[in-house]
Amino acid sequence: MGVHQVEPALTPPSVKPILPKKPNMGSGKTRTKKREIPEGLWIKCPSCEAMIFDKELDENLKVCTKCAHHFPIGARERIHSLVETCTFQELDADMASVDVLGFKGASTYKSKLDAYRKSTTLKDAVVTGLGQIGPHRVALGVMDFTFLGGSMGSVVGEKLTRLIERGTSNNLPVIIISTSGGARMYEGMFSLMQMAKTSAALAYHAQHRLAYISILTHPTMAGVMASYATLGDLILAEPKAMIGFAGARVIKDTTQAELPPGFQTSEFLLDHGLIDAIVPRKEMKDQLVKYLDYFAAGKKAGA
Ligand SMILES: [Zn+2]
Repeated sequence: MGVHQVEPALTPPSVKPILPKKPNMGSGKTRTKKREIPEGLWIKCPSCEAMIFDKELDENLKVCTKCAHHFPIGARERIHSLVETCTFQELDADMASVDVLGFKGASTYKSKLDAYRKSTTLKDAVVTGLGQIGPHRVALGVMDFTFLGGSMGSVVGEKLTRLIERGTSNNLPVIIISTSGGARMYEGMFSLMQMAKTSAALAYHAQHRLAYISILTHPTMAGVMASYATLGDLILAEPKAMIGFAGARVIKDTTQAELPPGFQTSEFLLDHGLIDAIVPRKEMKDQLVKYLDYFAAGKKAGA
């Protein structure tokens, strides 16, 4: 908008900022051309419809101050909210996808990649690195839905695999925060292979008696859900996140059955035992420290 510079990666694409309405002062033609520029933007909460000032939303980790609706949050902002200041050391920051299949459709894969790199300032849909949460060193991977729907291609799979392997070699717990529409169709089989690769790396990490915490955020679906996202020793989710494998409509059409209320939400999956706890974003860091304390104590006792 040229009004307030916000890092594009942090602005959810689905949320349209709404400029505050100015009172109608009669005929617009008579007014001077130069308009007063508002200092910020108002965002309408899709859940409670309250108007929230964007800075207020940023300060509240993109959680509605009225109804606690969790807006999407960018990978870098999320990392910033969890790790201790200046402790995050990013890994494989320059790894970038290539159009290995020469994919052509309504637009080419290369043009998509170029557009998303520009609009998000990310190289791909995951940021990985080593950092400290409370007193604990961890290997942390955080996905970002704004980059091609958080889809998992070769780069997402490879960066996460290297992160997990780094966790194994450095004796560190791994935390992966997922948000994804699934495997990246532009890379076909190369995307699907990432499911096996990340899962194998996690199995090797587990053999070393190291903890893996998977955190599911809105939405986490398909190939990501069918691989590393559900392999956590502990699986946490943010409130009211959509979590599943196939979409609800596909399941309904295939099974010809009515789906239960709340199907594919965090709350439904907690009731049915797929996830271990629902943790609001603002409590996530404190809870992670507690869980990491337990794991560290258990490892010490088992050694
Ligand atoms: Zn709200």
